[in-house]
Amino acid sequence: MKFCKECSFPKKFANYFDWRTDGTIISRDQTGGQSQIVFLPSGEFEELFKGLSSKLGIEVDRFLIQAQKNMGKTILENLPIKYAKRLPAKKFFRPQWIAKLIVKLAIAEDIAGLGDGRISLDSYIPGEKMIIKYENPCLIPLLVGGSLGIYESLEKMKSSKVEYRTENNNLFIIMSHGEEEARGEERLFLEEVQPGNGPLTYDKCKSCGVPHLAAETFSWNMKEGVITNKKTKNREVIVSVQSVNAILRELERELGEDILELLFSIQKELESNSLECAQGASENFWQNYLLGMGIRGLGYPLAFDAKNDSLKVEIGNAYNQVLYAAKLSASFEKLAGRPVSIEWLERKGNYGSYIVRA
Ligand SMILES: [Zn+2]
Repeated sequence: MKFCKECSFPKKFANYFDWRTDGTIISRDQTGGQSQIVFLPSGEFEELFKGLSSKLGIEVDRFLIQAQKNMGKTILENLPIKYAKRLPAKKFFRPQWIAKLIVKLAIAEDIAGLGDGRISLDSYIPGEKMIIKYENPCLIPLLVGGSLGIYESLEKMKSSKVEYRTENNNLFIIMSHGEEEARGEERLFLEEVQPGNGPLTYDKCKSCGVPHLAAETFSWNMKEGVITNKKTKNREVIVSVQSVNAILRELERELGEDILELLFSIQKELESNSLECAQGASENFWQNYLLGMGIRGLGYPLAFDAKNDSLKVEIGNAYNQVLYAAKLSASFEKLAGRPVSIEWLERKGNYGSYIVRA
């Protein structure tokens, strides 16, 4: 991998990722396909859904797998490889080496770049079975869903069966043909990506255009497929905003609006546990905090008014309104040193306006 001589950021990702002035990050591939991404601490998403599963008493992994399956299909369709496009429809013409090539050449690098670990093809019998292996896996239900999407696209079928297990930090995904017609997939649509503009300015590298803060924060180990936060030393992972929102939208529809309050409280607790800021933090606490959210692609407020006992926020592009507000509320609670409550003035699609009171 090549690195920028000025800031040491990987050149490949400097070309892919666009840190926008509205606090979002747009990722573009060579074919012009684009998606909105966020950097999250690697355990955060798992913890969020684990919390949801235990509070609801239901298994939410199947939602995650289904939603990510659609992403997997989109990723495969957008891959800049000729091999996939040229794949003959009949399984007879799809020997194992083509599949190996696809996994090895194109997908493996892209997946390592997302910090999801290192993918390889364990075995593949066209028309019957495929086993995919991940070293250093992260966000396991999403990896399973993404792999299923790739498998179904490759085999040109509507449904599939899957089992998965972990062994010594390796994840094995065993996929075979399904008998039932796929259900509910059309509901898990992905939103269009809109590159936005806003009031945020970054101090950017003159050579590669990446914000210095991003280069100071994230580093890649492509061999292991691991992204590390240089400041916290913790693992990070890149997640697609579209798939996060497809999952949450589906959960809200299945389980009702109450789910949002639950998500809010779980995310708030998670954020609170990871925060170190104490009461009476420095003057520019909020400035740094909001910038830190922007550099992760979580969004940036259009208007922000912080007082001792209230926080007024208007934001048009949070990666997710509820999760963003929960993070802010957790920080405000720590700063104020007493419990806070949120009042939503408006929450519609990407737009949110609310007051947090301490
Ligand atoms: Zn640079």
